Amino acid sequence: MSTKSDTAKVRQHNLGLVYQVIDHHQPLSRTELSRLSGLSTASITKISRELLDARVIRECGELHSLRGRHPILLELDSRHFRYLAMRLGRGYVAMASFDLKGRCLRKERYTLLSREKESLTRELFSHLETFTQKYRDRLLAMAVSLPGRVDDEQGWVHHFPFYDIHDWPLKQLLEQTFSIPCFVSSSIHPWIMAERAWGAAQKSQNALLILIQEDIGAGVILDGQLVNSRQSRIGSLNHLPTADGQLPCYCGHQGCARTEVTTSALERSYLELTGDRLSAREICELALAEEGKARELLITLGHELGALLATLVIFFNPQTLLFSGELLAAASILFPLFRQEISARVPREYFEHLSIEATCFYEDPTRPTAILVQEALFDGFLLSRVTQPC
Ligand SMILES: [Zn+2]
Repeated sequence: MSTKSDTAKVRQHNLGLVYQVIDHHQPLSRTELSRLSGLSTASITKISRELLDARVIRECGELHSLRGRHPILLELDSRHFRYLAMRLGRGYVAMASFDLKGRCLRKERYTLLSREKESLTRELFSHLETFTQKYRDRLLAMAVSLPGRVDDEQGWVHHFPFYDIHDWPLKQLLEQTFSIPCFVSSSIHPWIMAERAWGAAQKSQNALLILIQEDIGAGVILDGQLVNSRQSRIGSLNHLPTADGQLPCYCGHQGCARTEVTTSALERSYLELTGDRLSAREICELALAEEGKARELLITLGHELGALLATLVIFFNPQTLLFSGELLAAASILFPLFRQEISARVPREYFEHLSIEATCFYEDPTRPTAILVQEALFDGFLLSRVTQPC
């Protein structure tokens, strides 16, 4: 016997399925929607009515046919709902609003001056209030991604490295304030999903994304699917041992990737070598301008990182290896070193078809975050909240 919750689950699933088919094939008729979704025409009539009433989809004309009635075409209604995607980084938050067709309507980047949890929360929320002022009542959901260790399920930030913030209940705080569903995730998983959907990994069934910031993470797509786990800390490479690293890590070991091949490791090495405190991006720019010490450090880092990547290439055998983070500025120095190290350490069949590429979304970090909302539309979760059963 089916229960009320089973019925609700089926309804949610069907709403998401119909939405996905419209998203991929719009504009289309109800008959095509039925054929492509596998749902009966009666179900399509009912679900499309619910989505029309909620202003999620709209009728947008007729399909011209030679005989009989002209079927009415449906498409996503981009006029009503908005959603927000944010990226929190070192001293900034980037925000972008999107319509249901995934078009970015407005972008802003705000500098964040606060460094501790309470004041950072106040500053962030103040920018959010300003950014969403004009369409607050039409805001469907918001998503935020940030580097560090995040419990995606609970939206709980265990550790945000640049600010050294621990135990930040960000999802809960956002939902209490804005009364809409909010999604909080570490950067890496939405990023590789977005690269697979819209970016540099569209043609790859197996792709690996390495994101280097204050810490180092990896996102993996195998057979077109994100590799993830609720139980394990998949994605962090912080404590992967490097070949020659000697520096102590807070975990009690030495030579961990986070102490040797991250942006902060590069900045620390440059400070020790020159006495100058520069950002990783500035060091990359100096290296490109042939400044000796910056170039020397980048080359050392490129070899160490390349050796580490060789291990991952053997393990995951990706077709595409994507690289992102501030060090991307020195891709012309780093990528040849990665190829050199990988080819020296890995059997030929593992790398002969391997393509090493920059990610598409480094300069547009809100786009990967937006995929979290799109997922919640595709699985029907957000749609079941804004529709009423007929
Ligand atoms: Zn460690």
